[in-house]
Amino acid sequence: MVCSTLCGNPYAGLVSHLRASWLSGKTRPLEYRVAQLEALGRFLDDKKQEILEATELDMGKPSFEAFFSEILLCKNELNVTLNNLCQWMKDEYVDKNLVMQLDSAFIRKDPYGVVLIIAPWNYPIHLFLVPLIGAIAAGNCAIIKPSEISKNTERLVAETLGCYLDDDCFAVVTGGVPETTRLLENKFDYIFFTGSPPVGRIVMTAAAKHLTPVTLELGGKNPCYVSDTCDVTNVARRVAWGRFFNAGQTCIAPDYLLCTIEMQEKLMPALREAITEFFGPNPRESPDFGRIVSDKQFRRLRALLCSGRVALGGQTDEAERYIAPTVLADVQPSDPAMQEEIFGPILPIVVIANMDEAIDFINARPRPLALYAFSCDSKIVNQVLERTSSGGFCGNDTLMHLTLTSLPFGGIGNSGLGKYHGKFTFDTFSHHRGCLHRNMGLETLNTPRYPPYTQQKLGILTTTFEVKRRGTCTLL
Ligand code: NAD
Repeated sequence: MVCSTLCGNPYAGLVSHLRASWLSGKTRPLEYRVAQLEALGRFLDDKKQEILEATELDMGKPSFEAFFSEILLCKNELNVTLNNLCQWMKDEYVDKNLVMQLDSAFIRKDPYGVVLIIAPWNYPIHLFLVPLIGAIAAGNCAIIKPSEISKNTERLVAETLGCYLDDDCFAVVTGGVPETTRLLENKFDYIFFTGSPPVGRIVMTAAAKHLTPVTLELGGKNPCYVSDTCDVTNVARRVAWGRFFNAGQTCIAPDYLLCTIEMQEKLMPALREAITEFFGPNPRESPDFGRIVSDKQFRRLRALLCSGRVALGGQTDEAERYIAPTVLADVQPSDPAMQEEIFGPILPIVVIANMDEAIDFINARPRPLALYAFSCDSKIVNQVLERTSSGGFCGNDTLMHLTLTSLPFGGIGNSGLGKYHGKFTFDTFSHHRGCLHRNMGLETLNTPRYPPYTQQKLGILTTTFEVKRRGTCTLL
């Protein structure tokens, strides 16, 4: 059956070449993994300028933002991995029962084999490189499929990454839907996908044919609740930064605000001030404000501007794919801006009566990738955290939780499954193999489990195998 779908598959040869390399065991030694990771570091150092230029061409990404998100955060992930890899790779010894006291029970962190990493266009280096760090660290071979939409970065990666990595074990495949569809017909040992929920379903369906495990890093609408008790100036600056970074094309950007009508009134001048402070009186002239990645995305976003009332911004220029930092007031849940992930520099405000209504609003919708709550009263922030569910959470700021390599990053429900960053990436790409290595001798210890069964053997078996509830021991 596999042959009937794979005969003539353009990627079958590549996948089997990588699988042969993986089976040879060359990716397993610590030294090999470290050498490949260090080569990734050199790629980032040597190609820094080209990365900044390519992301600028693709979506007018300001070089400050590109340096922070595509280079610095990747370097942090690399360094955390290199600093800890030796420890992470070690077998983890676990508790044993009485019979096994002379044996060895441990968790081996095994590589999966040949993994596929599919990336989107919005952070076109970061979103393939951070998973790749974990894939290499865990001892896998990998195929990377960057997004065809960020075409300048795609070209840069396709032309240069191979000069740094071992091409028997790592490859870049370029292309759009037809190419990725063919690629997905192959059997991989793990698929790590970042992108939209509809494509996530397609990837998971393709993976299911081979029972391949997946991580799905998806998107959606991230709510941001602003309580009446907060420092309005600080909220406006932190929300505007998170919403307008990369011209709003960030999966964890605050997608819409939930607040009372009074807070909406207070926020509007503060948001105006924050936007002017960040981007000057005309954001179009600002070197620190990006552009929309494609004409298709531009038109989709422009169509959302009819939601509620344009309170700030609203200007567009199709030739430049420019959309001004925009705030929409009094947006209704039925408006177009509330029907899809915005993924652009538009911030709708939906008015609610109080925190309970905000929580009901959030819980009535698909579970988001990120959830934000602002309040000077930490009880309010904690209540929002307690009574909702989301991939990640950040109180009194936006985006910043992503910068910690110590926190797991990932979605839940509609926003995805699985997690990564720091050690979580290494664990994602490792099969945790439960191993028991027994002593060859000491056969008397095993006799109670063999037939012929007796009541006395059952007694011994119970004493040696039983796990007791803590606090129920009658002897103490
Ligand atoms: P997308 O789902 O359209 O594309 C992602 C990747 O899938 C690309 O490499 C693309 O070539 C491939 N692809 C597209 N259609 C396909 C198909 N039919 N079959 C097989 N492969 C296909 O996403 P995008 O537009 O590149 O990125 C935007 C989305 O990604 C948003 O929803 C955003 O929230 C999400 N995102 C999530 C995260 C996260 O970490 N959770 C990060 C960035 C972006």
